Amino acid sequence: MTNKFIEKIKKKFKNFIFPEINEIIMKKELIENIINIAKDSYPKEFLAWMIGNNRKGVLMIENLEMQTYYANNNSAIFEPTWLPNTSNIIGTVHSHPGYSNRASRADLRVFNKRGLIHAIICMPYTQETIQFYDKYGEKINIKIE
Ligand SMILES: [Zn+2]
Repeated sequence: MTNKFIEKIKKKFKNFIFPEINEIIMKKELIENIINIAKDSYPKEFLAWMIGNNRKGVLMIENLEMQTYYANNNSAIFEPTWLPNTSNIIGTVHSHPGYSNRASRADLRVFNKRGLIHAIICMPYTQETIQFYDKYGEKINIKIE
C-alpha cells in the first residue's frame, strides 16, 4: 500500500528518527479521538501534533498533542509555533469545517516544515473523511487498526 512512500522516507531520512519503517499504523482509538475533537471544535478547526514511535519497523501513530492556534472562518491560517517536548513528532492533523479534505496552499507550507505525515479530516467527520498526506502533499494511505 504505502511501500513507495516508505521507500521515500527511508531514502530521505536515513538517519532521521525513523530509520527502519516497513509499515505505518494509526490506532483506531486515535482516529475516534480525532473525530470527536473535530466535532467538538466545529465550526472552528483544530490542529494537533501527531506523536508516534518506531516499534520494530512499524511506525505507530499513537498520540496527539493539541496545538493552540487561531483560525479564521474559511481555511485556517495556522503556523505551528509551539512544539511538544518530544522528538517523536510524526506530523500534524487538522480539521476542515467543510466537505473538502484537500490540502490548501497554507496547509502545504506547514506540511513541508515539520513532520513526515499529515492528516486532514473534513465533515461529516468520519473515518472515511480523513485523508493522509506526505510532507510533499501527496495522498498516502496508512493502516488503521
Ligand atoms: Zn487545512
